[in-house]
Amino acid sequence: MNEDRAALGRRRERGAQLVVATAALVFAILVISGALTLGYAIPGFAVVALVCFLALRADENGKRAAPPHSVAEQANDPLRTIVSGLPDPVIAVDRDSRVLALNEAARALAPALRQGEPVSLAMRMPELIETVGRAFAHGETERVEYSERVPVDRWFEAVAMPVKRSVDAAMPDMVLLTFRDLTPLRRVEEMRADFVANASHELRTPLAALSGFIETLQGSARDDAKARERFLAIMQEQARRMARLIDDLLSLSRIELNAHRRPDVPVDLVPIVRQVVDSLQTLARDRGVTVNVEAVGVLTVFGDRDEMVRLFENLVENALKYGAAGKRLDIKLALETASDGEPEAMASVRDYGPGIAPEHLPRLTERFYRVDVRESRAQGGTGLGLALVKHILNRHRGRLSIESTLGAGATFTVHLPPAGPRVSQ
Ligand code: ADP
Repeated sequence: MNEDRAALGRRRERGAQLVVATAALVFAILVISGALTLGYAIPGFAVVALVCFLALRADENGKRAAPPHSVAEQANDPLRTIVSGLPDPVIAVDRDSRVLALNEAARALAPALRQGEPVSLAMRMPELIETVGRAFAHGETERVEYSERVPVDRWFEAVAMPVKRSVDAAMPDMVLLTFRDLTPLRRVEEMRADFVANASHELRTPLAALSGFIETLQGSARDDAKARERFLAIMQEQARRMARLIDDLLSLSRIELNAHRRPDVPVDLVPIVRQVVDSLQTLARDRGVTVNVEAVGVLTVFGDRDEMVRLFENLVENALKYGAAGKRLDIKLALETASDGEPEAMASVRDYGPGIAPEHLPRLTERFYRVDVRESRAQGGTGLGLALVKHILNRHRGRLSIESTLGAGATFTVHLPPAGPRVSQ
């Protein structure tokens, strides 16, 4: 390959000499024939000679500046071919931690990485370089976890595997660095830790109240019959609250467990909603709320009946609890056409209460998220109701939309794919 280049260089040099000689001849003929004076011929010839000289120099510089390995050479280098074919980020480094080869995924991870340059220039993680050093020193695979804070928090695991490129080499002469993005895993771990902390906190509050009242009943209120009655009623309510919370937590984990199994039994939503409304009549009466149900004849979806009951219980109960001030509740079930033109089973629960400020709307379905924690507790809420609704709908390939204006009530709408031919108006 180098011989070819030398031959090409010699040919170019000879070509340039020929051009200069021809130019000299042409200018001489022109001067002799009187077509050109010496005053014009000499600078003209000088320009031609200079251009030829500069062209040759540029050619030589270009050759020197070209990367040591052309594309053709890269294709012939088995190390680079293998590394570039791997899907995960891979960097091969030598004993000086210089990059021998890298693939596109590694370049995406650290765009400043350059072949032939030290890894540390592009990846300023001392622990990574130490791990490469340890892998060379011990001749064994080493691992390290590290994080990046900028531009966003990301976590990685790097594995440094020492490699002997020649079978008889005594020591490894290369380390293959591979990377695994741990960020999604970490996020899930954080969410789980938050969830356990929240759940424990929710349980600890009624538990502390129970313990406090037990102590009071054993001590100062031992002989106070009236206080005993009052405290026992509070204790019963706290125990109910704990039971509700455990019940909601178990439901959530059950639904999550089945998340990928889509229900395939057709169920009619109309009798389910009517049953839920009947079961909540006492609460509605207590709150002075009239519930109106406007429904099509049959509205069938593929669904889990118990989960559908749970879903509408949560929505109707919330409307009765938080929207009671409006004294009215409208429930509507219909088969509509979605924005994509497909039919859609829709069930909306509209209250005329105080409504919800727009900044809360996107977070309402998060676990334990409440607009007003004190009010939710006072209403016996666990903060898990709408999270349950969202998970149930995810499993049913449906979605929840929430519309509200402060002071003008709220509408929670369930959108579900209808169960084909069984749907009728
Ligand atoms: P909770 O157990 O607290 O009722 P949910 O997940 O069911 O938990 O609801 C979360 C929060 O959303 C409630 O605490 C309440 O602040 C708000 N919310 C839910 N439904 C309504 C509604 N119809 N009107 C006003 N606020 C509501």
